[in-house]
Amino acid sequence: MTKKIAVLPGDGIGPEIIAEAVKVLDTLKSRFGLKIEMELAPIGGAGYDAAKQPLPEATLKLAKAANAVLLGAVGGPQYDNLPRELRPERGLLGIRSELGLFSNLRPALLYPQLVHASTLKPEVVSGLDILIVRELTGSIYFGKPRGIRTRDDGVREGFNTMIYSEPEIERIARSAFDIAMKRGKKVCSVDKANVLEVSELWREVVTRVAKDYPKVELSHMYVDNAAMQLVRAPKQFDVMVTDNMFGDILSDVASMLTGSIGMLPSASLDAKGKGMYEPIHGSAPDIAGKGIANPLATILSVAMMLRYTLNEAALADRIEQAVSKVLDLGIRTADIWTEGTKKVGTKEMGDAVVAAL
Ligand code: NAD
Repeated sequence: MTKKIAVLPGDGIGPEIIAEAVKVLDTLKSRFGLKIEMELAPIGGAGYDAAKQPLPEATLKLAKAANAVLLGAVGGPQYDNLPRELRPERGLLGIRSELGLFSNLRPALLYPQLVHASTLKPEVVSGLDILIVRELTGSIYFGKPRGIRTRDDGVREGFNTMIYSEPEIERIARSAFDIAMKRGKKVCSVDKANVLEVSELWREVVTRVAKDYPKVELSHMYVDNAAMQLVRAPKQFDVMVTDNMFGDILSDVASMLTGSIGMLPSASLDAKGKGMYEPIHGSAPDIAGKGIANPLATILSVAMMLRYTLNEAALADRIEQAVSKVLDLGIRTADIWTEGTKKVGTKEMGDAVVAAL
């Protein structure tokens, strides 16, 4: 049966990197019989430009009807002065919560060819393969009450609410343990249970869920220590599971261990395996339109889509091998370029992956 992919390029470098990912999907269609159809729609600033909303109704309808969503990135300085509810990021938060995408998988995998692109010593990062499972629809980014108010004494204050229900913690814990069973069978749960009640409940529930996974080794770590350990000795981790905000920050730290934010894909899944797939980086307005952005994170997001939603693991492997081959050939975009390798632009990198397929 033909599967439907909603393709949402977004803003900044979004359309440039998505074009290369679409090229890869078109190649899988024409050469390897992948049965998909793709439909494009605007989101973020592009959504605001087209329909005065960061998540236009037609885009949401398309995303809901599709089997999977492929997203570029949203945001740009031209939208920074819009009212908060119309800003591009609202489109992203909105689609994640409308689709119930509560489980965000962010791999930090270091390709051996790029070991020197990391700012850390090769012996600290070589062989690195971490998967951060970040809860995506709860906690302080969504909790209410929230706002900015003026107190009786005239002083303004800002406030947010960090809140998790037991079922929310349980389902993200299960998601992490299920994935750990397919990897190194280790889960490190990251919280701030020494200070926060919400973390106290988090730790209790994760510990209870772990009893259903006797083969998985569970450890707990405070988030400040986890940030330190990620830089000090990152290879101690296999799967890390954590809260929305902690995961936001830690996964960016983990991404830098691998050298470039331009290499890392992500998946956000609902309870049934439907997913939205996107690079972890943003819209990079500083390089948008220059044709130099690295499309590999987006192309590797397509591989995750094939593996987690479309059940086409062999094609996912094929993409990942093609990326590895391109790196073997010394082909690099500017962000991962080192002396002695060949610097190419976004389009040439996409063409190289297609050729390697
Ligand atoms: P960013 O990830 O866009 O860029 C950070 C740095 O990494 C920049 O120097 C950029 O040039 C570089 N970079 C990012 N992706 C790259 C790629 N594929 N190839 C080469 N270099 C790349 O983060 P930022 O600068 O903090 O944010 C820029 C805009 O993106 C903001 O509007 C922000 O809100 C938005 N944003 C969106 C998302 C998303 O859509 N998921 C995520 C983060 C930030």
